[in-house]
Amino acid sequence: MIRVENLHKHFGGFHAVDGASLEVARGSITGLIGPNGAGKTTLFNVIAGVLPPTSGRVTMDGEDITGLPPHALFHKGLLRTFQIAHEFHTMTVRENLMMVPPGQSGENLWSAWFHRRAVAEEEARIRARADEVMEFLTIAHLAEERAGNLSGGQKKLLELGRTMMTDARIVFLDEVGAGVNRTLLNTIADAIVRLNRERGYTFVVIEHDMDFIARICGPVICMAEGRVLAEGSIAEIKSNEAVIEAYLGT
Ligand code: ADP
Repeated sequence: MIRVENLHKHFGGFHAVDGASLEVARGSITGLIGPNGAGKTTLFNVIAGVLPPTSGRVTMDGEDITGLPPHALFHKGLLRTFQIAHEFHTMTVRENLMMVPPGQSGENLWSAWFHRRAVAEEEARIRARADEVMEFLTIAHLAEERAGNLSGGQKKLLELGRTMMTDARIVFLDEVGAGVNRTLLNTIADAIVRLNRERGYTFVVIEHDMDFIARICGPVICMAEGRVLAEGSIAEIKSNEAVIEAYLGT
């Protein structure tokens, strides 16, 4: 589904991504691991159009998407999750979800003026979709809670929920488990697996918690120093000499 070919991202003289090549298979939950500073987040940001690459190519289903801006990728179903921005903290969970869908007729002044009923109907449809998303993620009881009051794990579920309000096909998740308690981590893992199996989402997941990776990901790609070191099952990765050395070296 995604092919990254010889990708470079340099910050001045520093090569954060230094000739990375990899593939993400449709329908997979691909894990991306590697020591701190390996270039994982930078790679995500380049694929998701947040940062322009220095050189190299990214294709999605054979189409060149290198350097496309996030909104263009969004329309192709490629999303990278971001922390809920500070300005959305005072909005409720439901409002945060309802903000997302593209093509709301309410955004368009003319249609808002001429088609008030259509706007109301669309808002009801989006609200129903938000309620369904919260149900799916087991956060329906938090619908009226302000996003700023959520725990780290609940915020992650809301981030995941925001992707479900769109017609996402491939989602890039950065550090899903950081600062999240065990119970919520299990809920997040279940949600990812169900979205993958029941809704056909493809995922690429950066995570430091190896148990989490082992539980939901296959295959796993290991990066170090801006390049892909190894790829395979978690068992293969864990016993790979180069991978062990990269982790020990940090
Ligand atoms: P990882 O996600 O694997 O920990 P990152 O992609 O965050 O790695 O970072 C890779 C390297 O690139 C790090 O050494 C980091 O300091 C550097 N880096 C990341 N973003 C920038 C930036 N905007 N300017 C300069 N250096 C950066």
